[in-house]
Amino acid sequence: MKQSQPVLTIVVPCFNEEEVFQETSRQLTEVVDSLIEEKLIGEDSKILFVDDGSKDRTWALIAMESIRNKKVTGLKLACNVGHQRALLAGLHKAKNRSDCVISIDADLQDDISVIRDFMLKYHEGCEIVYGVRRSRKTDTFFKRTTALGFYRLMNKLGIKLIYNHADFRLMNKRSLEELARYPEANLFLRGIVPMIGFRSAEVLYDRKERFAGKTKYPLKKMLSFAFNGITSFSVAPIRFFTLLGFILFFFSTVAGVGAFIQKLLGHTNAGWASLIISIWFLGGLQLMGIGIIGEYIGTIFSEVKRRPKYAIDIDLYNEPLSPLQRQEKERLEKKYS
Ligand code: UDP
Ligand code: MG
Repeated sequence: MKQSQPVLTIVVPCFNEEEVFQETSRQLTEVVDSLIEEKLIGEDSKILFVDDGSKDRTWALIAMESIRNKKVTGLKLACNVGHQRALLAGLHKAKNRSDCVISIDADLQDDISVIRDFMLKYHEGCEIVYGVRRSRKTDTFFKRTTALGFYRLMNKLGIKLIYNHADFRLMNKRSLEELARYPEANLFLRGIVPMIGFRSAEVLYDRKERFAGKTKYPLKKMLSFAFNGITSFSVAPIRFFTLLGFILFFFSTVAGVGAFIQKLLGHTNAGWASLIISIWFLGGLQLMGIGIIGEYIGTIFSEVKRRPKYAIDIDLYNEPLSPLQRQEKERLEKKYS
C-alpha cells in the first residue's frame, strides 16, 4: 500500500512585499516541488501567503500567482494587524488542512534550504522545529546589539526564549491545536511556542540579507514588540519596583530617625541639597513605577476585551469557495489572464 505523506503548508506573512513576492514564491515553489519529489511531503502541500493589509500590489500578485501556480494560495486580511497576528491568522487557517506548518518571512532572509531539515526532524518525530540563526553577520550593528540585549533581558526575567530564533519554525498539527488554545490578545509567539513543551529540535542556518525592499520593523515597532514580549510574560518589572519601594522606605525611615535625633541635639543644617535631591529622586521613581504598573493595566485592558485578532477579507485557501469569493477569483482570472 502506498504510504501517504504529511501535508505541509508554508505560511508567509506579507506586508507591502511586492518587490520580493515573485522571487519568494518561485523559490518556495521549487523547495515544495523538490520535497514532494523526495516524498518528504504530500502532493497537497501548499504555500499560503497572508496579505497583512498591504498598500501596494502584494495581494494582486498573490491572487494572480494562485491562479497560475497550484502550490500557491492566499489569505487577505482586512487591514494591517502586524506580523504576529498575520502569522497567527495563517497558522489558524493552515492547521485544518495540514499535518505540519512552517512559518517564514516573505523576504527570504531565512535559509529555505533548511526546510528540508525541518521535514527530516518532523519525520523523526519532532513536533516543533526551531530555525536558529548561526550568526547575525548580515544584520546591522544596531539590530544585532539590540536583539542580543533583548534576549539577555528576557532570560533574566525568566522568559524562556530560543536564542537567535525568530519566527522561522515548523509546528505539527497537534502543537498548532495547542497554540490555538492560548487566547491572549498580546501575542508573542516566540515566547508562547516554547511553553507548549512538545518534543522539539533546533536547526542551524545562516541568516541572509533582505534581497529587496526594506525592513517593515522600524525602531518604534521593534520597541513595542519587545515591550509586549516582556509585559505579556513577566511581572518581574513590577516586582522590581515593589522591592525598590521597600528598600527606599527602609532607608528613608532610618534617615528620618537620624534627622530627628540630629534635630533634638540641635545640629540642624540647611539641608536644601538632600531635600531637593530626594524630592526629584522619589518623584521620578514613583512616576516610573506608576508607568510600569500602567503598562500592565493596559495589557489587562486589551486582554479583557477579548477582541478578535484579525479579520479575514478573502480566503483563497479554503475550498469550496463561497459565491462571492468565486466572483473575486473569476474577476482576477479575467484581469490577469
Ligand atoms: N510583516 C507583516 N506585517 C507587518 C510588518 C511585517 O506581515 O505589519 C511581515 C513582513 O512582510 C515580513 C515579515 O513580517 O514577511 C518580517 O518583516 P521584516 O522582514 O520587515 O522584519 P525584519 O526581518 O527586518 O525584522
Ligand atoms: Mg526580514
